[in-house]
Amino acid sequence: MYNKLPVKLSNFHQQALLAWKLCYIHNFSPHKTLLWNNMNITVRNKSLFFPNWFNRGLTYILSLFDNSGNILSYECFMTVHDFPIPFKEYNTVIKAIPTGLVHLVKSHILYNQKDTKESALLLDGISIYDKKCNNKHIRQVFQKRDQIRPRGRSHWAALIDNINWRKAWLLAYKYCIPNKTKEVHFKILHKIYLVNSTISKYVDIPSTCSFCGHEDETLIHLFYSCELVQKFWSNLYSHLNNTPINTQSFNLKDNICYYTDSNKSKEYIFNFFILFTFFIHKQKFMSSLPTLSHFLIEVDSLLKSFRLTSNAKCDRFLKLYEQFFCNGSDGQV
Ligand SMILES: [Zn+2]
Repeated sequence: MYNKLPVKLSNFHQQALLAWKLCYIHNFSPHKTLLWNNMNITVRNKSLFFPNWFNRGLTYILSLFDNSGNILSYECFMTVHDFPIPFKEYNTVIKAIPTGLVHLVKSHILYNQKDTKESALLLDGISIYDKKCNNKHIRQVFQKRDQIRPRGRSHWAALIDNINWRKAWLLAYKYCIPNKTKEVHFKILHKIYLVNSTISKYVDIPSTCSFCGHEDETLIHLFYSCELVQKFWSNLYSHLNNTPINTQSFNLKDNICYYTDSNKSKEYIFNFFILFTFFIHKQKFMSSLPTLSHFLIEVDSLLKSFRLTSNAKCDRFLKLYEQFFCNGSDGQV
């Protein structure tokens, strides 16, 4: 049907029409054929609808047949349904029914039951006419049906223990940070960030790391294990903690998911810095190495803009940032 449509429709609408057609074909039963707005029952290519018939409960084609499967005569029809109508009107309806359909209904009446009761329309156990079947319920049904496990979840769960996914997904939203930063964090968690080892499968480019140039650029390598990136993380760690360089660094969970610490304000500040894995992404595209001095300039300009805005998230961050670095024993940035 949808190939012969008189108008051009998008694929989506064509498929919707096809789905309806499939529903119609799979549920077609002659005795449930509707008399009104039926594409098979037409006069001059137009389907019929007579409100006075419809209001009388004459909805199905079956109302026009007797128990032997014959079409009721004009007089019989008026007697059976106690419904006086002009002969012309009755004749119009009778003539509009195709012969094939009349035979189908006749054989159906002779060999089957005549039950025209519609089955209840339920949506997840609740009738669609029920007040409980509101938009919230419909949305929940769709959400339940389309629930998928994010692809990155199993990937990272195989490498990192005990990830609190809620915390990981929502981390970027705790801060007032550029959308691009959130996007990179999101892509890494979902394992949809494109790295050279993936791109090289489709495009003729080397699969090697953009920084060190001698190992395959995988997601973990680029943002964590590359020696040059490790150096950056280690420098950042010692800078934030005011400890000697190369003594300790962030681990994989800190870099990819979130940083945890018993000191909540420290955790909050550190996570902000870690979220700047975006910086590594940026340096990759600028063909420049991720260095601490560059990073601090980036952060500094962001903090300057924080000071100029009156945003609750910015204020909270600045307050904790100043408390942590100016009053704490961890030194000053
Ligand atoms: Zn590398």
